[in-house]
Parts: sequence; structure tokens; C-alpha cells
Amino acid sequence: MREVHYSQIVEAVREIALRANYELPQDVELAYRRALETEESELGKEVLQQILLNIKASKEEQMAYCQDTGVAVVFVEIGQDVRVVGGALEEAINEGVRRAYAEGYLRASMVYDPVFERKNTKDNAPAVVHYRVVPGEVLRLVFAPKGAGSENTSRLAMLKPADGWEGVKNFVLETVRLAGPNACPPFTVGVGIGGTFEYCALLAKRALLRPVGERSSDPVARRMEEELIEEVNKIGWGPMGFGGTVTAVDVKVELYPCHIASLPVAVNIQCHASRHAEVEL
Ligand code: SF4
Repeated sequence: MREVHYSQIVEAVREIALRANYELPQDVELAYRRALETEESELGKEVLQQILLNIKASKEEQMAYCQDTGVAVVFVEIGQDVRVVGGALEEAINEGVRRAYAEGYLRASMVYDPVFERKNTKDNAPAVVHYRVVPGEVLRLVFAPKGAGSENTSRLAMLKPADGWEGVKNFVLETVRLAGPNACPPFTVGVGIGGTFEYCALLAKRALLRPVGERSSDPVARRMEEELIEEVNKIGWGPMGFGGTVTAVDVKVELYPCHIASLPVAVNIQCHASRHAEVEL
């Protein structure tokens, strides 16, 4: 049994939270560079240039890429032969979030209760944590801060099996159409199909962690991704919604078996601040 100390996790989360907020992943930056070559609108090109400048500036100055530093979403992959010592895993994650958001001058955006008082928790905790127990001794943490602009436009539908691919496709396209400029395009669109009500939402969010520009290894999901990215970019929102041919730089589809009578579909819209950073302990 491998032991990982509470303090290692706090430090690791602090570091990836800062890194995620300051530095966009390389695959995302590359996708915007490619988009600059394919975007047909002049205004769209200008926006993409601003986005690329922003990526450079936030990395060099170690400042937040966007003022909305998001909900602290953390994906944990914990090996079944790992034991966390010195404190609770989830408390370590929250402590790492508190330290990063205070030290990095990152905006604290979490409020409680969510309906009446909506009082800021002041430290951006608690995080929203998703766990997966895997074989072995690995402890992998992925920090993916999620801004409200794009999260608010995400949607879920429990379709009928008879709705089929046309139903799924229409739902995805309608979601992108409704999202529009409010969700700060160009998007990466995460699509979860199958599972249950809650699981397809998680699939859609997880899909956003896959490298932009890389197709799914599942041939069915790959076909769907290819068709969807083409259709999404016909919608015409373009960079920041000023019109153009690059509304999304990618669509990621994750599939899972589902009940004979269900067809759950979730669409998680990711704005151009497509942030995530990871560490393995
Ligand atoms: S939608 Fe994204 S880019 Fe727009 S303000 Fe929110 S986090 Fe920033």
C-alpha cells in the first residue's frame, strides 16, 4: 500500500489550480492558431488574435486568463493501493483550492446557499470533486475551473430511444445555437451520450479533458464527432459571437451503455477559457 500525505495533496492542488488559471493547455492554444488560418471572418480572426495574445500574457505575467476563475472542478483518479494519510483527501483538495485562490488573487465565485442568501464562501471552496477508483498506486488530479458563462448554457435531455441520432444531433446543435455569444466562443463542446441522468452529464464534462483536435478511439463516437463539428461550425456564431466559421474548435463525444428505454444526452459547453492542469502523485 502506497501512502500519500495530506500535505502533498494540498500542495499539488494549489499548484495545478494556479497553473490551470494562468496557462491554457498547449493543444488548446494550437487549436486557436489553426482556427486563425481557417476562420473566414476578419473580425473573427481579430478576436482569435486577441485570444492568443491573452494566452501569452496570462502565462508570462502569471495572471488569471479570465476574470471568471470558475468553480473548482477536480477529477481524482485514485489507485486502489493508495492510502491517504495525515488528513482527509477531500479536505486536502479544498485546502489546496483555498490557498491557490488567495495566493493567486483568483476570484472567489462560490456562494451558499445557492437560492436565498447566496453568500460568498470567500475562498472558492468547496470544490466539486469527481472520483474514480482505478487499479494500482497512482493518484492523479486534474483541475478544471469552470466559468459560469459557458456552464449556464449547458443542457441535458432524456430523449426517447426512437429519437435516435437525429434527436441527439438536433439537441447538440440547438444547445450551441442557444449558447451563442453568452458562452464566449470558440467553444469546445463536450457531449455525453448514454448512462443515466447524472452520468451523461459527467461524461460530457470529462469529454472536455481530452486533447483538442484528437478524435475518439471509439469508431462510433468518432463518426459523431466528425459530423457534429462540421454542423456546429455552420451555425455561424464565430469567435466571441461576432459571426464567423469557427464557432467551436472541437466536439468531444463520450458514449456509455444505457437502459433499453432511455437515451440520455448532455452537452457541456466549454468557452475559449478551456482550462485544465493535472498532476500525478
Ligand atoms: S464564459 Fe469563459 S471566457 Fe467567458 S467570462 Fe466565463 S470563464 Fe471567461
